Parts: sequence; C-alpha cells; structure tokens
Amino acid sequence: MSGGTIFDKIIAKEIPADIVYEDELSLAFKDINPQAPVHVLIIPKKHIATINDIEESDRELIGHLYVVAARLAQQYGFAKDGYRVVMNCNEDGGQSVYHIHLHLLAGVTMGWPPFANNKPKQVG
Ligand code: 5GP
Repeated sequence: MSGGTIFDKIIAKEIPADIVYEDELSLAFKDINPQAPVHVLIIPKKHIATINDIEESDRELIGHLYVVAARLAQQYGFAKDGYRVVMNCNEDGGQSVYHIHLHLLAGVTMGWPPFANNKPKQVG
C-alpha cells in the first residue's frame, strides 16, 4: 500500500537513504536534516498518513516502532543517558511528511517544553 510520499519512495528503494535498520514491518534511516547528533526516523512500511489514521489493527505495528527505537538506543549506546522519541501530527504538530514516523533524537541534553516561545491556541 503506497501513499506516494518521499518515505514510500525510500521504502521502495527508489531514492537513497542512510538505512540503519530494516525488517518486514519497518525501516529506520538517518534524517536528511538532523536536529540532534543522532536523528533517525523509524517508519512503518504500511502507509499510514498521520496519527489520526492509526486503526485498532495497527496496535502491534505502532508498538513495534517503539521496540525498534529502544533497540537502536541500545545499539548506539545512548539508552542509559536518554533520548527523545517524537511523532508529529498535522500542521500544528509540525508534520511535513504524511507517512507516520518516529523521530529518534539523541546525543544532546534536550530542553522541555519545545514550544516555549509560541503563543498557545484555545483547544479542548
Ligand atoms: P516531520 O516534520 O514530518 O515530523 O518530519 C519529517 C522529517 O523527514 C524531517 O525531519 C525531514 O528532515 C525528514 N526528511 C524529509 N525528506 C527526507 C528525505 O528525503 N530523506 C530523509 N532521510 N529525511 C527526510
């Protein structure tokens, strides 16, 4: 199932990426514009556009992406020091590629919150 995004082309090996992990369900590769010393994207091979499109039947798949993140953290050696795993959703969440992906960020002590300088909206 393809959604025609740049990540679908990376899955199909139609465009190159620095792949660090692959299995039947997922692919992990280095972000082209890293925001931390380690910045890896972990994506499902199944096309899911946004978090809003995740279905009950995707439970195991979504869990699997976190298992891959934890394995990579062990493998790279930053599991104990810590890291951040983020999935953005739609415009306000900062999503730019509409194929869900975990950002795995590490190698620097990260601040919180990430939106400190932005004016909040009325929600909820
Ligand atoms: P988002 O903004 O959707 O949460 O994250 C998309 C991420 O994909 C960005 O961090 C961006 O740098 C990365 N990205 C966009 N196009 C490519 C590409 O062609 N190759 C790789 N490796 N990363 C990409």
